[in-house]
Amino acid sequence: MRRKLATLAAIGLLTAGLGSAAATPASAHVPGGPCLQPNQNVSLSSVPTYDEVVATLDRIEHASQGLVTVRSAGQSGEGRELLYATVGTGPAVFWLQARIHGNEIHSTEAVLQILDYLASGASEARAIRQNLTVVVIPMYNPDGATANIRQSTTPNRIDLNRDWENFAQPESIAFWKLWRDVAPTYALDLHHMGQSPVVQGTDDLNQFQIGARSIDPARMTAEQWLTNRQMAMTSVEALDKYGLANVAHYPIIDITNAVISRMLMGGTAPPGEQPVTQTPTKGAIFFEVRSVGQKSNGQLENLFRIPTLAVLSAAADGSLGSQDVSAYPSLPFASPGPCGQE
Ligand SMILES: [Zn+2]
Repeated sequence: MRRKLATLAAIGLLTAGLGSAAATPASAHVPGGPCLQPNQNVSLSSVPTYDEVVATLDRIEHASQGLVTVRSAGQSGEGRELLYATVGTGPAVFWLQARIHGNEIHSTEAVLQILDYLASGASEARAIRQNLTVVVIPMYNPDGATANIRQSTTPNRIDLNRDWENFAQPESIAFWKLWRDVAPTYALDLHHMGQSPVVQGTDDLNQFQIGARSIDPARMTAEQWLTNRQMAMTSVEALDKYGLANVAHYPIIDITNAVISRMLMGGTAPPGEQPVTQTPTKGAIFFEVRSVGQKSNGQLENLFRIPTLAVLSAAADGSLGSQDVSAYPSLPFASPGPCGQE
């Protein structure tokens, strides 16, 4: 939290197009670093805890003079409130979700910074508020985050991003109901990669993977597949300007019980609820950012924040709908090796 004001200033510079970061020389042309070492003791002391998330949301809400409201979607397995913030009054709802995997740590801080920015007087923030209603979930899995594990803790220790068919966990039920009720047009789900290889055919450390297809595009409507690629290419172009990301495709997957997959497909519901047959969600993608403990916090948060704000702005000003996707098929994949190695 202490870093927030400095990094907020950085957001302003970046989104104002001053391109301060673009002047930074690209690191990572040499494989091998920075990578998490097998016996490295990763300190989590600077990563916001659940209690700090609660306090930060409270601060942002109170400072926002009514622009931000914080509510609970329900309770986690251990009884923590599943908090989300809403900012903006625009007709299209944008769902911004972090930390469904509890040990993927930097997305929480990134979305809190974005929320703070969206409540600010910056012209970009005002435009987003006018055109979108942004629902921010900084910690989808507070029990897993507290335990620093991927999964939920109780009553089942399972991957919450595989639970929108069975709905075995209270987190899944609560956030499914919130999804149904707020009916987001767009959704963005933030993750860290389990490993950080190089971009195939290069020595460049792959810092960011774009996930435009959590399911086979054949399961989507043509509009959804186009919107997903437009969200993806908006993200990739923003990161290209930033200059450090070495973007690759996320590996090809087809995971129907993941959250954003079911937002696109509809058709499932928790016990006692009616499935949503006409899904409101036109686009739902995910980001995977390299993961190196706290050593590169600021940069890793930028890797979430820059493309997220680019997609929010494009959705708000309508340019998302004209985003060219012709470069999408030629995005490289990453090599399957461990961090920094072919
Ligand atoms: Zn993840």
